[in-house]
Amino acid sequence: MTKIFVIYTGGTIGMITDLSTGVLKPFTFEQIIENVPELRRMDYELTVHSFNPIIDSSDVTPEIWAVLAKLIEDNYDDHDGFLVLHGSDTMAFTASALSFMLDGLSKPVIFTGSQLPISEVRTDAKENFITALEIASAKLEDGRARVPEVCIYFENKLFRANRTFKYNSAKFEAFRSPNYPVLVEAGVHIKYNDAAILKSERTKLRVHTSVSSNIGVLKLYPGISPQIVDGVLNSDAEAIIMEAFGTGNTTTASWFLDRLRKAIQNGKIILDISQCKVGSVEMGRYTTSSELKNMGVINGYDMTFEAAVTKLMYLLGRNYPKDRLLRRLGTSIRGEFTKN
Ligand code: ASP
Repeated sequence: MTKIFVIYTGGTIGMITDLSTGVLKPFTFEQIIENVPELRRMDYELTVHSFNPIIDSSDVTPEIWAVLAKLIEDNYDDHDGFLVLHGSDTMAFTASALSFMLDGLSKPVIFTGSQLPISEVRTDAKENFITALEIASAKLEDGRARVPEVCIYFENKLFRANRTFKYNSAKFEAFRSPNYPVLVEAGVHIKYNDAAILKSERTKLRVHTSVSSNIGVLKLYPGISPQIVDGVLNSDAEAIIMEAFGTGNTTTASWFLDRLRKAIQNGKIILDISQCKVGSVEMGRYTTSSELKNMGVINGYDMTFEAAVTKLMYLLGRNYPKDRLLRRLGTSIRGEFTKN
């Protein structure tokens, strides 16, 4: 029998409306199971670990990412796959973080949740839960896992976690991955896009739970002031994600470029990603970004904001020498970007 380890962290999936107040309150995992009687007809052995108390995903921290990674490590050899029930709001951050922390993964780690509580008649939770379980247990003919990576399953689609962001808080189709193909699509049949799925590593799982949140974000907008830029660049942050325009462009104003150059000379790491959700940073394509390349800004290519945040936190936590850290940052280590 396929053995799946289920971690229930919280989120809307396990909520029920308190009729007296109208506020959503958490369910236990047993109450979730009662709402999915189909599970009893499925051939899985589920081991369940429920957070106590269960939490809204807005309260998930890097310490909780470490707890999840450790739970997966401790139960790795005895299970075929992992299912993490998690609130959708920060799911893309947690799942991206896990994709970096779980090094040498050869089993599926599937995150799912829902937009409507599992107790509601029109809920999207049941389908998400049941199909995510099926995908977590899928095997190739030789017995290896068919999806040996960290993914998000939502509304009929499985995405690579570190390519995904939450884009809609009102539709069941809450997530998108515009820069990387859907890995699995569930309709009448479950269709696996095997060519897009990472190949299972035959190495041993190594789990890295130490991450550093010592990062900052500089989101550019026309009219941004030197004071605001200074506030971010002169902070203690070791690395700064610069959310730039279009293909990674910034103003060419000398007050701005001088400040960036000085920050890099003083040891700051600046990672250039785009405010556009589709497409990639192309450093050097316009004059507005060629100077950035010359001064040592790092190209973030088509990385999501969520992947940029969690990759930097992960790499800073590894305590690499600076040149190694920069090389890892500029290399796709878990399929998180495509070079153009
Ligand atoms: N606020 C909830 C959470 O992220 C929303 C959800 O689960 O979809 O925990």
